[in-house]
Amino acid sequence: MAAIGFIGLGNMGLPMALNLLKAGHDVTGFDTSAAALERFAAAGGKRAASAAEAAAAGDVLITMLPAGEQVRQVYGAVLSRTRPGALLIDCSTIDVETARETSAAAEKAARTMLDAPVSGGVGGAQAGTLTFMVGGSAEGFARAEPVLAAMGKTIVHAGGPGNGQAAKICNNMILGISMIAVSEAFVLAEKLGLEAQKLFDIASKSSGQCWSLTTYCPVPGPVPTSPANRDYQAGFTAAMMLKDLRLAQDAAKSAAADTPLGREAAALYERYVQASGAATDFSGIIRFLRNL
Ligand code: NAD
Repeated sequence: MAAIGFIGLGNMGLPMALNLLKAGHDVTGFDTSAAALERFAAAGGKRAASAAEAAAAGDVLITMLPAGEQVRQVYGAVLSRTRPGALLIDCSTIDVETARETSAAAEKAARTMLDAPVSGGVGGAQAGTLTFMVGGSAEGFARAEPVLAAMGKTIVHAGGPGNGQAAKICNNMILGISMIAVSEAFVLAEKLGLEAQKLFDIASKSSGQCWSLTTYCPVPGPVPTSPANRDYQAGFTAAMMLKDLRLAQDAAKSAAADTPLGREAAALYERYVQASGAATDFSGIIRFLRNL
């Protein structure tokens, strides 16, 4: 079993760290939020007094932070405090450029770094069924696999540094667009006098079937575990979805790829976030679309 430092114990990081503990790893965690750190310690984790202390505590360091800005800041502060030869795994969703620059800085310091963003949401993090999309060296991937296996079910090596983030950004562009599509269909069904449950029963067995419908249904009822059943409490916030759709648009611009629906999805999420939806689950966009 490995000694692991874990920085960022939020909605995703906490259940991921708890699954590492459950698998028998020795996990030392840090979060700038005292409440998050308290939840981790109450569940049996070792509490670090700083990010540097958590980084120094393991042969593996895992980070699960909000965005590229925090990843730059944390690795800038702790890289020199990690153990020589340590394996660094950043699971946050961030821009490809920051992932590649951080990985290069780690390599320069003789550390192996992987970008390993995840899909599967808080439910997947709790159940240990996340999908990891991993960018970095084959050697780093082989070292990381047994650790990631305690938190996920599907672990894919997507290529060199930054390719995990590239996969994640493309995946979440699909997700943002499909959540809007499913929400629009439920709003239209309401207006046509078609019951939500009936639309679900039919579309979930037809060509409209997708994750946004069958796992994360944006209306209450058909999928009891979806955030729609708890007043759109996140889950995955609309602000985070907007962040990812902006990352996709930035990446599309720099790669000269046109993504018209991705652009429209980013614009709609921006309006939803500005209309006070930021902290709600991203599936709450159905309420915004209903009132357009
Ligand atoms: P979150 O805001 O719940 O958690 C982030 C945690 O990082 C917070 O507890 C915060 O206090 C901590 N933090 C921020 N800056 C820090 C610093 N400098 N040092 C230490 N801790 C710091 O976010 P989340 O929902 O857990 O998401 C984390 C990442 O995972 C994001 O990049 C997100 O896009 C990605 N993601 C989230 C989901 C989801 O469903 N929530 C799904 C897939 C991917």
